[in-house]
Amino acid sequence: MKIYRFLHAGRPAAGVADGDRIVRYEGDVLHLGEPTSDSISMADAELLAPVSPSKIVAVGRNYAEHAKELGNEAPSEPIIFLKPPSAVLPPNGTIVRPPQSQRVDFEGELAIVIGKTARNVSRDDWQSVVLGFTCANDVTARDLQKKDVQFTRGKSFDTFCPLGPCIETDLDPSSLALRTRLNGETKQNGNTHDMVFNCAVIIEFITSVMTLLPGDVILTGTPAGVGPLAAGDRVEVEIEGIGVLRNSVS
Ligand code: MG
Repeated sequence: MKIYRFLHAGRPAAGVADGDRIVRYEGDVLHLGEPTSDSISMADAELLAPVSPSKIVAVGRNYAEHAKELGNEAPSEPIIFLKPPSAVLPPNGTIVRPPQSQRVDFEGELAIVIGKTARNVSRDDWQSVVLGFTCANDVTARDLQKKDVQFTRGKSFDTFCPLGPCIETDLDPSSLALRTRLNGETKQNGNTHDMVFNCAVIIEFITSVMTLLPGDVILTGTPAGVGPLAAGDRVEVEIEGIGVLRNSVS
């Protein structure tokens, strides 16, 4: 099932895809109720980010080829960092390149959406805390990330976490094609089977550190092929079985 979050009468609403329409449901994305008689065409819906997370935990260098392209070794245990919830950007929103940075990169990533409060989850139970998956762009001010050594500033500008277009709840994330296109040209052409640490290991690792809340998001790392964004660009992250996350750049 593909769950969407969209504006309905000026408020966030939840719905489920039915062909090229979204049927509005009672409740919200995390507590989906019964279907209503309302529906809206996918093309007319003003999509919101599919969740409003309390935090976004991201995994760095989780594809060996990407670690190599930035001159790093693949890590022996997950490297995690946080992006603030204020960085979230909806589908079709505009990524704003900040004046402090001369180099803002796209990073297409599979995102895990947490459905239940999760603490000390073993890798065998990882699926019990997952609502589903969406597409993410871990937008990064690469020059500031390098300059600061730690990641906070380079990863945290407003608009630096596009999410969407929907949450797919029925998906095996172990072998999904992941492509990022810039102005229609494929720049990243990866597959989630190349992750250094899979979703089970990532969830076990993160929940041994912190409690994840319903709606929290984990970005699972980016494959090789990252590159810079310029004003006027259109960037798309497409993941097999989920859909396409489209954003513009200013
Ligand atoms: Mg990343």
